[in-house]
Amino acid sequence: MTGDGADPRRSLPSVDRLSRELKDRTPAVPDWAARAGARDAVAAARSRVAGGEPPGDVAADALARARELARPRPGRVVNATGVVLHTNLGRAPLAPAAARAVTEAALGYSDVELDLATGGRGKRQETLARMLCELSGAEDALVVNNNAAAVLLALAGLARGREVVVSRGELVEIGGSFRVPEILEQAGVQLREVGTTNRTHPRDYENAIADSTAALLKVHRSNFEQRGFVTEVDLAALVEIGARHALPVIDDLGSGTLLDLRSACLPEDAYVPSRLAAGADLVCFSGDKLLGGPQAGLILGRADAVDALRRNPLARALRVDKLDLAALHATLALLLEGRRQEIPVVRMLLEPVEKLSERARGLAASLAGVAGDRLVVEVEPVSAAVGGGSLPGFELPSAAVVLSGAAPGADALAARLRSAPLPVLVRTREDRVWIDTRTLLEGEEEAVQAALEHALSVD
Ligand SMILES: *Cc1c(COP(=O)(O)O)cnc(C)c1O
Repeated sequence: MTGDGADPRRSLPSVDRLSRELKDRTPAVPDWAARAGARDAVAAARSRVAGGEPPGDVAADALARARELARPRPGRVVNATGVVLHTNLGRAPLAPAAARAVTEAALGYSDVELDLATGGRGKRQETLARMLCELSGAEDALVVNNNAAAVLLALAGLARGREVVVSRGELVEIGGSFRVPEILEQAGVQLREVGTTNRTHPRDYENAIADSTAALLKVHRSNFEQRGFVTEVDLAALVEIGARHALPVIDDLGSGTLLDLRSACLPEDAYVPSRLAAGADLVCFSGDKLLGGPQAGLILGRADAVDALRRNPLARALRVDKLDLAALHATLALLLEGRRQEIPVVRMLLEPVEKLSERARGLAASLAGVAGDRLVVEVEPVSAAVGGGSLPGFELPSAAVVLSGAAPGADALAARLRSAPLPVLVRTREDRVWIDTRTLLEGEEEAVQAALEHALSVD
């Protein structure tokens, strides 16, 4: 492309020419993406050339970049990883009824702050709070943007300018950016840490309580487990200590459910009504973890405590939007009406492994048809995880379709499955591709089959 001695940078196309040619060849790419893709591709080629490398295929690079920019984000993907609440994949998929409620609320005006009976201003969350109380036994409830916001508001509302006592074993980081000490700091609360990383006793709390103490905080460890020489003060014992000193107890549960999932062998400590019954003044948890609804932070508890938060000026800044309200309302309605199986997360958690094995066998048969003699297709038992900072160490028995013998290796096959028009996310282990059926939504077998066809056609 470049002659000897010529400045190779001069051979690079101009952004204008490149984006025009791109549009001519691929009219479906929107103008803005064609221009931006061309600009980025030229810049990348320029820096390659500056580093003494060849410029590469600038036109192809520009098209790839333009297509990537024009793709809707977030875009739909199929979760075949077996991680039910996959943080990178948006945690909980909504129930169809909740998705319909979002569409309704989004497409028109809504009575989000209107009392239809009087025509006057209405309260955004009145019914929602009522539903949450019905489901949990709480006196009152407030919903904010996410659980990080819920905890921030709880701390600021009950303890700003004073001290909150937390066990050193619970000063955790969740999801990379939620760090308990930093949230306390942002809430204007002084952290009084007690105990040690592995052991905290009731007397540690007792000794730390002073006139400046405003509350006791319990934080669910969510994404890791402690084993061995460990002890912690459970919620009931903490409530007892709080009662003796007239201090409220805030429970940051993180992943909470309003269904008793003990029948699925899920631990009871995720069950919000149990936390309230144990005496927590406020329980904070996420809408899009085990609850299976939209992103939201739910604060349930004593009426005066919840009301204090509702009046706090931060509440407005942390407010949940009308689309999430609509989705949450519809999700809670399913719970109240005994239609729990319609909530994808709940269905995935409760699905018996026999059903999943059956599904895996059906999927294996159709994938074997696609693979011919290019892959070995088998069904194997596997362990699925709840994920999303929920129930660490807890595993669900599952069934996977396992692909082995992929010519370019399992990781390359996984990359090709991700590049399908409807991308499929899988796990790789032992140089094999594992397609876990526990996290497949109804009918997604077809998408997996299409992605495998795509992956094998790339050769
Ligand atoms: C997940 C989690 C959070 C953060 O919740 P978001 O909904 O992601 O804001 C806070 N605390 C605990 C214990 C958690 O598990």
